[in-house]
Amino acid sequence: MIRSKNYAARYPGWYDWKWQYAHRITSAEEIASFLNMSQAEKKDVEDCLSAFRMAITPYYASLIDSADPEDPLRKVCVPRIQETYPCENDMADPLGEVSDSPVPNIVHRYPDRVLFLTTLCCSTYCRYCTRRRVVGEEDRVITEPVLKKAVAYIRSHSEIRDVLISGGDPLVMRTEKLEHIIRELRAIPHVDIIRIGTRVPVVLPMRITDELLSMLRRYQPIWINTHFAHPREITEESARACAAIVDAGFPLGNQTVLLREINDNAETLKELFLKLVHLRVRPYYLYQCDLSRGIGHFRTTVDAGIDIMHALTGNISGYAVPKFVIDAPGGGGKIPINYDYVISRDEQEVVMENYRGKTYKYPQVL
Ligand SMILES: *Cc1c(COP(=O)(O)O)cnc(C)c1O
Ligand code: SF4
Repeated sequence: MIRSKNYAARYPGWYDWKWQYAHRITSAEEIASFLNMSQAEKKDVEDCLSAFRMAITPYYASLIDSADPEDPLRKVCVPRIQETYPCENDMADPLGEVSDSPVPNIVHRYPDRVLFLTTLCCSTYCRYCTRRRVVGEEDRVITEPVLKKAVAYIRSHSEIRDVLISGGDPLVMRTEKLEHIIRELRAIPHVDIIRIGTRVPVVLPMRITDELLSMLRRYQPIWINTHFAHPREITEESARACAAIVDAGFPLGNQTVLLREINDNAETLKELFLKLVHLRVRPYYLYQCDLSRGIGHFRTTVDAGIDIMHALTGNISGYAVPKFVIDAPGGGGKIPINYDYVISRDEQEVVMENYRGKTYKYPQVL
């Protein structure tokens, strides 16, 4: 596999995030030539692109093993014809975000926190994106009137103490634009923590600059959550980006979507989660794949997720084990799904199984 260092020697802009963003692979021609695709494969990509757009940073593309059609990172970002197959149960808005939206770009589902969608752009589009109904439709960053309305909503709801800035990917915005949004939120006294959800450390790690981090430091407390899907995404560059974020004083979490034939086995996820903990990134959620249109081929059974959680729990550090959740279709929110360790429970005792399958009893208070 070609290492990005070689690319860096060839392209002087390689470590400049704006160069990476401007040189994203967005057309069937470019990806076909990059991966030596056949005419038929290229036609499949073209068919997909009529429904959902594609963008891949040169950095992320450089991580793909172009000799392997089954490469997991390729499946993450390069369209496959299955995207165009209609699937039973597909929904345009599987999480019911439209109905939980009191004002545009705000999703208020839980009592004390809101999701704030600030941009529809990402530097690299994940083929399995939940929000593909909107993300990538056009590269749109929140306009001033929409921002004002969203901020006014948060200001008038004193129960909101946690604002999750997401999108799209908020870190593809210019630093000044992002600062403008964060400054508005920080000016609201009841907003306690601000969170940023971003895949930039994985797909555009050069975006994590001192300039960005020193801006964010002025608005603490800020928590950042990133999105690694596979251990091969951990590179020198993405590790550096994570270290810079943590060293700058931001707790860094990670969410991963369980993806068929990409990361749906205990060995791959164990490697990923242990490597993340090594980087001081805390695995936060493992998501069962949603029901968005054209992503049915990424879905695994729920049992596959439960089995993986069972294989990890107890066997590796608790820090390396995320919560496994299903974001319930129709807007029910995230529901934790667990292996059931309780064999029986009555007024006398609780009978339970440990991670090795041995049975133990705990007597109840009588
Ligand atoms: C995931 C999510 C949140 C944040 O939930 P946590 O469990 O606190 O991380 C908030 N609002 C919406 C709509 C969400 O989907
Ligand atoms: S980074 Fe997030 S919002 Fe962007 S395409 Fe991937 S999953 Fe969707």
